[in-house]
Formats: sequence, C-alpha cells, structure tokens
Amino acid sequence: MIRIAGVDKFFGHLHVLKDVHLEVPKGQVVVVLGPSGSGKSTLCRTINRLEPVDRGQIEVDGRPLPAEGRALAKLRAEVGMVFQSFNLFAHKSIVDNVMLAPVKVRRLPAAEARKTAMELLERVGIANQAEKFPAQLSGGQQQRAAIARALAMRPKVMLFDEPTSALDPEMVQEVLDVMTTLAKEGMTMLVVTHEMGFARKAADRVVFMADGEIVEDAKPEEFFSSPKSNRAKDFLGKIL
Ligand code: ATP
Ligand code: MG
Repeated sequence: MIRIAGVDKFFGHLHVLKDVHLEVPKGQVVVVLGPSGSGKSTLCRTINRLEPVDRGQIEVDGRPLPAEGRALAKLRAEVGMVFQSFNLFAHKSIVDNVMLAPVKVRRLPAAEARKTAMELLERVGIANQAEKFPAQLSGGQQQRAAIARALAMRPKVMLFDEPTSALDPEMVQEVLDVMTTLAKEGMTMLVVTHEMGFARKAADRVVFMADGEIVEDAKPEEFFSSPKSNRAKDFLGKIL
C-alpha cells in the first residue's frame, strides 16, 4: 500500500532521510520509533508530499505520488493524516469540521456528508459533542474529532505523527483506543509514537530510525526484547 524506495531528503545541507526503504502492505500497522530529529515526521510528510523528496520513489496504492494539481489533491484525500496538534477549524462545529472536506473535495451532498460525519463521530465516541466548537472539547476529544475528520475522506492509509504527545496523560488512552480499533479493522497505518504499549499491542512491525536512516525493522516483540543496534538499545534504555 505504501512503498518507499531509496528516498533521500535534504534540508539545505542537512541530510534528513538517507536511502530510506520501507514498505507497508495493505492492512499492516507500522510504528516508527526514534530519537528527536531522526526524521520521523519528515518521513511521514513525504508520503502525502507535504515534503517533496530529493531522490527515490514513493508509491501509494501502486501509484507514484503526483507532483501537483488535482491528482495530488486526490492523493492527499486518500492518505489521512493526524498530527500532534489537532488542526481543527476553530470557527466551525465539530460535525462541520468532519463534513467539510467530503463536501468541498468529494462534492458530496451536505445531508449525506453530515450523516457520514455523525456515524464517524459515533465511532470515535464523541457524537454528543457534534454541535460544539473545538475549544469546548477536551484535547482527547479534539484529537478523536481530527481522526474522524481524516476518516471522512475514506482514506486508504492513515498516517499518525505523535497524535497523543500534546495530550494530558488521562486523555492519551482514549485516543489510542480509537487507533487500536482502526488497526483491528484492517486500516493500513504508519504511526510515529512514543507510546510503547501501543507499539507492542497494535503494531505488526516496528521501524526504528536514527539520523535519517532506518536502522531496524522488526516485529515488536523482537525489537523490544532483542534490539540489534546500539542506537536502538540506547534509545530503549532511555524510554523504557
Ligand atoms: P521529533 O521526535 O522531535 O518530532 P523527528 O524524528 O520527527 O523529531 P524531523 O522533524 O523529521 O524529526 O526532523 C529531522 C531533521 O530535519 C531535524 O534535524 C530537523 O531539525 C530538520 N528539519 C525538519 N523540518 C525542517 C525544515 N522544514 N527545514 C529545515 N530543517 C528541518
Ligand atoms: Mg516529529
């Protein structure tokens, strides 16, 4: 579903992705771990072309990423992304936030988009918050709304970049629960997170990055019990 082959990315002289190869087959959940600055967010952002790459190929669902225009807009619709900050539109209600893109991009009739939006809000457990504005919701509720908004475009892939890092501790689990359910339902997911419990429980594979390189790519139990590289051992020593 996602295929990254020989990708290099520079910011000026800084080589932030170094010959990265990564495949995420349909239905797999891959958790990306690694120290700050190792290139995890940049990797995520290359997949929907928020960052163009300097070398290599990226394919989503068997097609190379389009460079621009309608084809790029379509790709972005198929690749849902949830960030650390919720990025909801502050002046729109929660349900309006969720139905906006389907109406604007997919040209869905408003009534139909609203119905789907309500179903999605139900799924993430905040249907009763639908008419409120983002600021009236807790962080965990806002992040679940952001997930519903991404799902409203019926993405083939979901990218998560530290979706729980900005949340108060008591709200982390409700967001992870929604993500775990998505994973169980067969969504293809690439998840950057420091939540090791999620990585152990929900990931098919763990990819460990350091200095722009993929250093390890293993099953979670294997990675956590016997990391091979010193960099991974060092990283795990600090966070576990
Ligand atoms: P963190 O865990 O802190 O989120 P990360 O693994 O996500 O880190 P990236 O955000 O991908 O790391 O950054 C990789 C490197 O690229 C860092 O050295 C960062 O400073 C640099 N970088 C990221 N975005 C830009 C940019 N737009 N311009 C210049 N340098 C950038
Ligand atoms: Mg990051």
